[in-house]
Amino acid sequence: MDNKLKFYKEEDNFIQCQLCPHNCKLKENQFGICGLRTVKNNLPVAINYGEVTSANVDPIEKKPLFHFKPGKDILSVGTYGCNMKCSFCQNYEISQNKPSSEFIDIDKLIKLIISIPNNVGIAFTYNEPFMWYEYIYDVAKRIKEYDKNISVVLVSNGYVNKEPLKKILPFIDAMNIDLKGFTNRYYNDICKAKIEPVLETIKMASEQTHVEITTLMVSDENDSVEEIVEIAKFIASIDKNIPLHLSRYFPKYKMKNPPTLVENIMKAKEEASKYLNYIYVGNISGVDNNTYCPNCNYNLITRDIYSTNIHFHGDKCPNCKEYINIVF
Ligand code: SF4
Repeated sequence: MDNKLKFYKEEDNFIQCQLCPHNCKLKENQFGICGLRTVKNNLPVAINYGEVTSANVDPIEKKPLFHFKPGKDILSVGTYGCNMKCSFCQNYEISQNKPSSEFIDIDKLIKLIISIPNNVGIAFTYNEPFMWYEYIYDVAKRIKEYDKNISVVLVSNGYVNKEPLKKILPFIDAMNIDLKGFTNRYYNDICKAKIEPVLETIKMASEQTHVEITTLMVSDENDSVEEIVEIAKFIASIDKNIPLHLSRYFPKYKMKNPPTLVENIMKAKEEASKYLNYIYVGNISGVDNNTYCPNCNYNLITRDIYSTNIHFHGDKCPNCKEYINIVF
């Protein structure tokens, strides 16, 4: 077990954690903002190494990833802690608290991954995976040594420094990254973070791995059509084939705003579709979340809550031969 931090700097009378943009200064037995990293006996360590609080086999669409291994399942695991403090957190029980956990060593985890039928790999999700960096790095590296075809997925807030991101990306097959809003005001006030590092993560990750973006539209906070259009324009400046998931907010944790109006989300989807080829909506039943060819509108994948029906394979539309950004 190697719970020693992989990114830190020793100063005269403190140790600086360099994993995420908070760059916390740590002293003996003092914790950083995430509540997970500290100094014990002069060594900087993460207390959640290998500690699992949640493990489920989920459809990969639930991450959400709609353009990566569609129709498959993925073992989904999480630990506890987070480096953001979003007042609407949908998983605050594990992100902002320390629930009971079980240590799972890497060999046991790999055995579990390969024993599950229809399973494409492992998704680190439920809480912020970069807060589990030391363990995830070791797991991902070992998985790729064992079998390159086992997928490693991160579902992340994207709040990580460039060096740690660069080091882990070669072992990552897909990411869903939250872009929680498009203003520093929102990131500062609601999430206690900054937007710029998240935008950098999206740019860097998109160059090396499959990326999809999720924006939780919170009523009266970030649910204006204008803000979603700004998000769409930013994503399009990288690649208009990156899928965007617009998710409906419901009151949770400290945020008491009413649920986001469905018509706001559908209007935002309509306007953002002028810039991006694939926009989906989450937490709303009975809507069309199929994948259509952006050129000829051929129905490539039909989705409902319970099933995914794939009408093509490869990377071209069977009708018009347009390139389609889906990893099978
Ligand atoms: S990972 Fe934790 S301790 Fe390290 S800089 Fe980020 S919030 Fe601070």
